Amino acid sequence: MQIVAIEGARKAAIVERPDPHPRGEFVVVRVEVAPMCTEYKGWMKGWVSDCLGHEAAGTVEAVEGDRRVKEGQRVLVMPQFPCGACELCRIGEFVYCERSLNPLAETGNAVGIATYAQRLIKQDWMLIPIPDDISTEHASLANCALGPAFGALKRMRVSGLDTVLITGLGPVGLGATILARRFGARVIGTDPSAYRRNLAEELGAHSVLDPTDPDALAQIRAMANGRGVDAVVECAGAPSAQRFALDAVRRLGRVAWVGEAQELTVHVSNDFIRKGLEVVGSWYYNLADTGVLMDWIRALRPELDRLITHRFPMAEVERAFALQEAAACGKILLAP
Ligand SMILES: [Zn+2]
Ligand SMILES: [Zn+2]
Repeated sequence: MQIVAIEGARKAAIVERPDPHPRGEFVVVRVEVAPMCTEYKGWMKGWVSDCLGHEAAGTVEAVEGDRRVKEGQRVLVMPQFPCGACELCRIGEFVYCERSLNPLAETGNAVGIATYAQRLIKQDWMLIPIPDDISTEHASLANCALGPAFGALKRMRVSGLDTVLITGLGPVGLGATILARRFGARVIGTDPSAYRRNLAEELGAHSVLDPTDPDALAQIRAMANGRGVDAVVECAGAPSAQRFALDAVRRLGRVAWVGEAQELTVHVSNDFIRKGLEVVGSWYYNLADTGVLMDWIRALRPELDRLITHRFPMAEVERAFALQEAAACGKILLAP
């Protein structure tokens, strides 16, 4: 089968690898949609790898024995390879599992973990059947277009009472925009990219601002009763955006870290204690919420069609990476 490999800085190629085979609970899925996430950063930096991607939807192609999914069934592929047996897995919080499996060792396959590939392997219980009236493309957005924000908004109990700030309007922040509207909130979005601010407005953001504008913080406070927003979903994953989030939220407000980042300098008293902040780290959503998310996907078709701005065949992955680097896109879907 063909998969994408990064061979150097801004250098990707399609390479041949052996097809994976099913073993036990691991089944083979033919990848039809591989939504693109943060892999372009590795392409920019030249992180050599032939194991790219963690988002996929497709069709079950091969199973061993009697499994929870059948050959020919369309499925959403959940990320990671959790153990399925620990208490976190048992309550649906599989993404936080501390006993992840080594799928290649478990199955004897040479490859099968990547989603920028024609086939992958996954445990049957991590494959969510796609309802007949939902397209494979739309279902795939339950990965990192809608998934991380859904978990964050739910944990922050966001409602129609709230003004929510979304910092970073990449695919995850744009997904957060769509969902925060659906939770009933008033949405303010920030991103340095004019393309992405415009797209967020089209997707329902009430106001959008450039966070590098020196007035941005004051404007946001003014829009939120002069006191700051009720909740923030930080999707940029940059220390400047994280700082902005802490400064824009009101006292007794809520902040969810969703964008992956490294170090941030905080003043514990001023930033957290004396503001009475509720801060959560939120990576994904509970497995039990896949049904709700599919229902919402059904209801949000026009927004999701707008959120998908580009589609590329896998052979043109470099064009897609370049668009991501330029921040001139919403969600890009790769077709292996
Ligand atoms: Zn586990
Ligand atoms: Zn992702």
